[in-house]
Amino acid sequence: MNQVHGDGVFEITSIIDEPTSDALITTVPGIALAVLVADCIPLLLTSQTVVGAVHVGRRGLVNSIALKTIEAMKKLGAGQIHAQLGPSICRGCYEVGGDLADEIHQTHPAATAITTSGSPSLDLPQALIADLVSVGITYEASGICTVENEQYFSYRRDIITGRTAGVVWL
Ligand SMILES: [Zn+2]
Repeated sequence: MNQVHGDGVFEITSIIDEPTSDALITTVPGIALAVLVADCIPLLLTSQTVVGAVHVGRRGLVNSIALKTIEAMKKLGAGQIHAQLGPSICRGCYEVGGDLADEIHQTHPAATAITTSGSPSLDLPQALIADLVSVGITYEASGICTVENEQYFSYRRDIITGRTAGVVWL
């Protein structure tokens, strides 16, 4: 994906190069969908007949990209959907300004947190999980922090860095 922190969901029916989107879904067996991240959440959604790969950062949380992807999967006939949240920046590391923290709190109270040094931060995984649970989605979350674990790329830690891929297929 050419990820733009937008809210568009793109259905893949054949292999194409870098669709501009933050969420890909497909019903075609054998086509692998990939999301690339360095601190944002790589969210993989699976069901018997439809799968999805979603890029969930702060803006993706606010514009409900995950819920929009779930709706699109259901329109394609998905039954029970299961979510997997890959490694991402944790609440202890994701420091943000107080104004931004207050703004996100309005729509996502579960995102409210403080860093290990006591400044305002966001808990993206908890906020995403709250959204998923609200629509009956089961989930597993990695719990690994990309900033603290050098096996993963982290924009916050390194600025110039690679990306970790989350990949899903039917
Ligand atoms: Zn951390």
